[in-house]
Amino acid sequence: MKELLDRLIEKNKVLVKQGKIANYIPLLGNANPKDLGICVIDSLGNLYSSGIYDKKFTIQSISKVIALMLAIMDHGEEEVFLKVGMESIDEPFNSLYKLDLPHGHKPANPMINAGAIVTTSLIRGNGDEKLNRLLEILRKITNNENINYSKEVYQSEKTTGDRNRAIAFLLKSKGLIDGEIEEVLDIYFKQCSIEVDCQDIAKIGIFLANKGRVLDTGEKLVDNRTISTLMAIMTTCGMYDFSGEYAIKVGIPSKSGVSGGILASVPNKYGIGVYGPALDKHGNSVAGYGILKDLSQELELSIFV
Ligand code: GLU
Repeated sequence: MKELLDRLIEKNKVLVKQGKIANYIPLLGNANPKDLGICVIDSLGNLYSSGIYDKKFTIQSISKVIALMLAIMDHGEEEVFLKVGMESIDEPFNSLYKLDLPHGHKPANPMINAGAIVTTSLIRGNGDEKLNRLLEILRKITNNENINYSKEVYQSEKTTGDRNRAIAFLLKSKGLIDGEIEEVLDIYFKQCSIEVDCQDIAKIGIFLANKGRVLDTGEKLVDNRTISTLMAIMTTCGMYDFSGEYAIKVGIPSKSGVSGGILASVPNKYGIGVYGPALDKHGNSVAGYGILKDLSQELELSIFV
C-alpha cells in the first residue's frame, strides 16, 4: 500500500498546476498550492501515508458531515430533514438563489452552506456548547485530544462571511433556523476552522466505514442507520456540483472542503484523508481527486462495482 500511495502521489502531483487556492477566505490564501498528501487507514488500524500528509489544514466543509451526524443524533432523521433536503444540486456550494424561489422552501441538502447552517443550528446546546460537542466527538473519533479550531481562520471567515450571513438571514426569514443569526454563524465559522491533518481525516473515514465505531477504542458512538444516511448524502452531495461524475469515476462516499481536504470512506475497508489545496472549478482538490480516482481503480474500491 505504501508503495502504491508513493506512486500515485508522484503521478498526480503535476495536476496541482491546474488548480487554484481558495482565497475568498483570505487566510486560506496562505496555503502552498504544491502540497499533496494522503493517509489511508484500514479496518485493522494499519496506517499508510505519503506526500505532505502531516500538514495541518482547516476542515471546512468536511465538518458538515459531523454537524449533520450530531443534528440527527439530537433530533432524529425525520425532524432534521423537515428543515433541509436530501437532493443533490448542480450549483455552487454557497449559492442562495434557489432558496429564495417560491418552491425553494428549504436548502437542497446538508452539504451546501445553506443546509449546513441549518444542521449546525440544530446541534443541541447554547453558543459554544454546540462547538464543544462537535470538538469533543471529533477528538473521540480521531483519538486526538489536540483537535481545536484556528482563531485566525475563524476571524478571517467571520470578517468576510457576508454571503453566509445573507444565507442565514434568508433561512431565518423562512423559519428554518432559530435563535440569533450571529450566534449560529459564529459556530458555523468556528466549525469550518477546526484544524486537522490527513490522519485525522482518515480516522473519520474509518469511523464511518466501521459503522460509527471508533477505531482506537472500539466505542460505538452512532447507530448504523445514521451512518448509512451520512454515507448516502456524501455519495450524492459530498463533492459539490461534481458529485455525480465523482460517483461514476471514484464511487467512494466522500466529502471535500475548500481548504483542499477530502474525506473518503470505503465501507468496512478504509478511511482515507487527502490534502491538496489547489482546487478545481468545483472547489475540489484537483490532485486529490486524481489520486482517489486512481486508488479506486487500482484497488476496486467503488461501492458500485
Ligand atoms: N467555510 C467555508 C464557507 O462557508 C466552507 C466552504 C466549503 O468548504 O465548501 O464558505
